[in-house]
Amino acid sequence: MKKLIIISLVLLSIVFAFSQRFLPPVKDSYLTSSFGEYRDTGDKPHFHLGIDFSSFSRIGYPVNAAADGYVYKIWINHKVYGNTVFLYHPDYDLITVYAHLSSFKGLVEEIANSVISEVGNTFAEIKFPEDEIRVSKGEIIAYSGKSGEAEVPHVHFEVREIKKSGNEKVEIVRDALEFVDYVEMRPRKLEALEIRSNNRTFKLLEDQVTEIPFASLPKLAVKADERIGNNTKIVPRKISLRINDELVYEIEFDAIRTDEMYSPNTIYGNGSNIFTYWIKLYSSSFITPIKVNRWNEIAFTLKDRNPAELILEDIWGTVKVYKLVLVKEM
Ligand SMILES: [Zn+2]
Repeated sequence: MKKLIIISLVLLSIVFAFSQRFLPPVKDSYLTSSFGEYRDTGDKPHFHLGIDFSSFSRIGYPVNAAADGYVYKIWINHKVYGNTVFLYHPDYDLITVYAHLSSFKGLVEEIANSVISEVGNTFAEIKFPEDEIRVSKGEIIAYSGKSGEAEVPHVHFEVREIKKSGNEKVEIVRDALEFVDYVEMRPRKLEALEIRSNNRTFKLLEDQVTEIPFASLPKLAVKADERIGNNTKIVPRKISLRINDELVYEIEFDAIRTDEMYSPNTIYGNGSNIFTYWIKLYSSSFITPIKVNRWNEIAFTLKDRNPAELILEDIWGTVKVYKLVLVKEM
């Protein structure tokens, strides 16, 4: 009987550990950017692989560990990330990342300072032995700043997973909003504003059917975003295109591999920047956010007039549908 109780207690605590969500890195803060956004800042265009939390524009605001774990590595002077802490969480087998920091804390800060005195402002990575510098959930691990590509002080937060693929290790960055204990309280507006077909632009309205001409193969791009409160704009989590009742193309920003970070032009079209997202509804190459790409099969079946639907979804379950007709030009 005693054994049974112990086994159930162990099982319960395992279930508990996994149902626990990550603590946001900044206390009582709010989201300012989402996963997968286009960034033309830093050294070259790239995907935004984290979610950003406000540090109330302050440098030196405390940054907290998302869960129990240990310091895995730090980066100093990274062009995009600036000063960064990576924590490993054995209970989850996940890494959390905290970037644009002004300073670290305790022993990590001492080690960082001695490295900085040698490398100056060039990039450096310091790896720590497993389990050496332990942190507990909510502990202050560093202080906010604007190092790297940050224009305003804030905290960039990521969740990473390392997967083995043969002999190679693949690092996958996941949408941290899936893991973090965060409730969005501000009003949200998910919206597709314009659609582009072979360089001609058309306004989109929700209660209206928009006719879009195309030549041999429609090369469409949609300008879409979600506004949250007064000063936050994020990219929609999912964008789908259905033509003649068939799903032709779908993008979902749920995961991006680190080696895909510098290929945002596979997803984003001309005119995209940190505030504007032109999302292409076609691609000739593959990266993780492209979930469906059936243009090769569908192109031959297109008629003169093709009813279509553009569907936007956010991570909180909001869905917006825009009705289109793709009209073949003679
Ligand atoms: Zn960020």
